[in-house]
Amino acid sequence: MIEYASYLDWIDKQHERMYQALIALADTNSCTLNTAGLEKVLHELSDLFRPLGGEQEIISLEPLKQVGTRGEIEQIALGKALRIRKRPESSIQVFLGVHMDTVFPADSPFQKTVRVDHSTVNGPGVADAKGGLVVLMIVLEALERSPWAGNIGWEVLINPDEEVGSPGSAHLLRESAKRNHLGLIYEPTFPDGSLAAERKGNGYFTAVVRGKAAHAGRDPDEGRNAIRAMADYVQAIDNLNGQRDGVTVNAGFIEGGGPVNIVPDLAILKFNVRIARLDDEIWIQKELEKAAKVINDRDGLSLELHGQFLRKPKILSKANRRLMHMISECGADLGMRLQWHKSGGCCDGNNLASAGLPNVDNLGVRGGNIHSEQEYMHLDSLTERAKLSALFLLKLASGYVKWTHG
Ligand SMILES: [Zn+2]
Repeated sequence: MIEYASYLDWIDKQHERMYQALIALADTNSCTLNTAGLEKVLHELSDLFRPLGGEQEIISLEPLKQVGTRGEIEQIALGKALRIRKRPESSIQVFLGVHMDTVFPADSPFQKTVRVDHSTVNGPGVADAKGGLVVLMIVLEALERSPWAGNIGWEVLINPDEEVGSPGSAHLLRESAKRNHLGLIYEPTFPDGSLAAERKGNGYFTAVVRGKAAHAGRDPDEGRNAIRAMADYVQAIDNLNGQRDGVTVNAGFIEGGGPVNIVPDLAILKFNVRIARLDDEIWIQKELEKAAKVINDRDGLSLELHGQFLRKPKILSKANRRLMHMISECGADLGMRLQWHKSGGCCDGNNLASAGLPNVDNLGVRGGNIHSEQEYMHLDSLTERAKLSALFLLKLASGYVKWTHG
């Protein structure tokens, strides 16, 4: 094999710098809805990535549309994406990306990193995905330090809306998928260090039931109770669980009504649907509409269904399996036996795969308890995972492994 050791040894020496970059990123709140915080992180990232060269672009996204508390559509501003492209003329183009947003609101008590012990850090987004952002940066630095860097071009896309399903950046992911040959995404690994193979698809829906208000004592018969109708709808869609392999429905949020002496005229339900296969989408959509029709057929009541599948299931193409095999071989070269598992979770790897780009999507750090205040990251995984994908890019750029398109 060609001598890659000096580039990998260099990564080992970057540990302290990686750690410091991680702390700075994680100590800045960048919840999906905190556009000011996202702006700060965007500029930190822009500075961190500048030495790599390439052309940086800051891209504004369309606002997120969602159903508000009165059942009306409201628009919510999203942050901006950072895109960097270098050597777009090269015959091999690699996409690398991950998100900069986290799930922790600006007013949550979980804002700062805490060093738990010599090998673990706890903090918002340390694993998901700020550790991954730092890994991504070092991977590209290692490539650019090598004599083979000129043989491949790369594109980095760091989006601010992944945690809400990438509604504003989906079109950027699609664009990237069309002009690159393979994708590397830096979501965290599973807690034991294993990687994701297939992933389920994910739909977010909101049902709005409108009825008719009336005095609960004087003329209850004049009213049409929206909460009662919504309760029936919840029951109907929850009963879809277990009816089709790999399809699950989770009613996750409900609100409506007001003073209890008034028949409520509004109820809102938010729910999530996971699917395993492409045609599950058609099936579930039909079932959801069938259940809605039952409510709509009632006198004086209406149910409006909003939402869509933001992410299709990630189905592994032949090319995708080939890429996974290549990554496994890099792991073996480094003394790691990588395991692959199916996942019920989704990420931008779903978006890339459904737009035809083979990808491995959790090449970031090892950690766990993500989306909770117990989120942690194993510090040694910063360099460990950077070496894993750097070795792959070095092999690719030096011609030791060949990527055949298609
Ligand atoms: Zn993530």
